[in-house]
Amino acid sequence: MRYDVAIIGGGVVGCAIARALSRFRLRTILLEKECEVGFGTSKSNSGIIHAGHNGATGTLKGELEWAGNRLWDKLHDELDFGFHRNGELMVAMSPEQVSRLEHFLEQGRKRGVTGLEIWDGDRVRREEPALSTEIVAALAAPTAGVVNPYEVCFSLIENACLNGVELAVGMPVRAIRPMAGGGFDIVTPERLVHARYIVNSAGLFSDEIARMAGAGDYTIRPRKGEEYLLDKRLKGLVTRTIFPCPTPQSKGILVIPTYDGTLMIGPTAGFIDDKNERSTTAAGAEEIFAAVRRFCPGISERDCIAEFAGLRATIEGDDFVIAPSKQKGFINCVGIQSPGLTAAPAIAERIVAILRDEGLEMIENDRFQPRVGKRVRFATLSLEDQVRLAAEDHRFGRIGCRCEQISEREIIDAIHAGARTLDGIKFRTRAGMGRCQGGFCSWRSMQLLSSELGIPMTAVTKRGGNTWIVCERKAKSANEGGDA
Ligand SMILES: Cc1cc2nc3c(=O)[nH]c(=O)nc-3n(C[C@H](O)[C@H](O)[C@H](O)COP(=O)(O)OP(=O)(O)OC[C@H]3O[C@@H](n4cnc5c(N)ncnc54)[C@H](O)[C@@H]3O)c2cc1C
Repeated sequence: MRYDVAIIGGGVVGCAIARALSRFRLRTILLEKECEVGFGTSKSNSGIIHAGHNGATGTLKGELEWAGNRLWDKLHDELDFGFHRNGELMVAMSPEQVSRLEHFLEQGRKRGVTGLEIWDGDRVRREEPALSTEIVAALAAPTAGVVNPYEVCFSLIENACLNGVELAVGMPVRAIRPMAGGGFDIVTPERLVHARYIVNSAGLFSDEIARMAGAGDYTIRPRKGEEYLLDKRLKGLVTRTIFPCPTPQSKGILVIPTYDGTLMIGPTAGFIDDKNERSTTAAGAEEIFAAVRRFCPGISERDCIAEFAGLRATIEGDDFVIAPSKQKGFINCVGIQSPGLTAAPAIAERIVAILRDEGLEMIENDRFQPRVGKRVRFATLSLEDQVRLAAEDHRFGRIGCRCEQISEREIIDAIHAGARTLDGIKFRTRAGMGRCQGGFCSWRSMQLLSSELGIPMTAVTKRGGNTWIVCERKAKSANEGGDA
């Protein structure tokens, strides 16, 4: 089990690195502790491709936000995930806040961000009629976009594997031993992996991975963000992502028209101690709804259909660390908080350059295939095309998820593309993401997982580990009577 590069952590950063390395003739493995990629912070965020003017000048976050932003169109064209540039408005609610808008306008222009403009209140309401009459001005940034972040992870890794990367899921790294002659032994419960180089992209746990190898002394402080999804009834209420004027700690609480048309509001920003704590709270909901109603009064708690929380992996200094460590051959990506999703493609390019500088020979893989096959999105087709497809394959004619109109064939395709859990199906197809939140389709998705993978229903989980949904019926004792 000898590899040139082992990537530890399969979030959007690790998957982007895997795909970037698959352009070269290397033996690369990605080790991920969860049962699927993208199940860390990369599935629990706002899904915004930031416009490029947000991160402060002189920081790596600022530099890679804009560098990453420019790489998304090509990536989207090649990898067929949900993405479009809907633009953003950063709104000022008082004349004092307008000077903050001017600061971001200047910061963006110096960096080369295109299309930035300050609009007065009337223009804001002409373009986005649902916004409050109290808004005095806004900074408009057409370069901002929205993306389905989990789909990005799946597409990146699918393409990386097509080009020779090995994916090892359910493979938590427990220890790393630097070897005297160079390289590392990486210990997991099932395998011992030897790699000449390690890229640490373990998100919230990247401090622990660095410590295991004696490759840096970082402390990740999780900063929790709660997000609330609203009914599709509100689709189109706003078309751009709406930001308040940011503070130094946070970009604030936003209204986000997601790629699929659901409005999302959030996130909160509060430090916590536990890296596994992802609860939502009544206080968080109250804060979010009160904040967004100030600039978008039409939003009500009654429209909430789902909620979740994600954890930002912050470190002291609040910037990204993307650098070789004092342990030769060990490269760190630590502190990849927001805008880590936006920056991921640029982070991957930087890792390729660092590995080359560190002595890894990079020979182009002349059989590299940049594309994945196009997925059928049944709900978005014309009635004529839907009828044609259903006649060709009856599984297109059977709707698994009624809210989002996802066919059984799409669910089966998702399983064959790597979905192993209900969440894996949900994030690949949207089955279970609609108003009923899986109330009707979960059972059918479970049956399909069971039949396609040849596993009993009791082995089907929501997101791996012990998140089973049904268990064996316990035999009743003679005293209780009834059937076994
Ligand atoms: C609420 C919220 C909103 C956000 N919104 C945005 C946004 O709109 N735009 C934006 O650009 N950014 C946003 N971000 C930031 C963005 O989500 C992150 O920067 C990005 O997802 C980080 O990706 P990652 O791959 O570094 O981490 P992760 O996705 O957490 O991936 C790390 C992976 O490492 C694995 N791992 C950990 N330990 C081990 C181990 N021992 N062995 C093997 N594997 C291991 C984990 O299971 C995980 O899959 C937001 C973040 C939050 C929390």
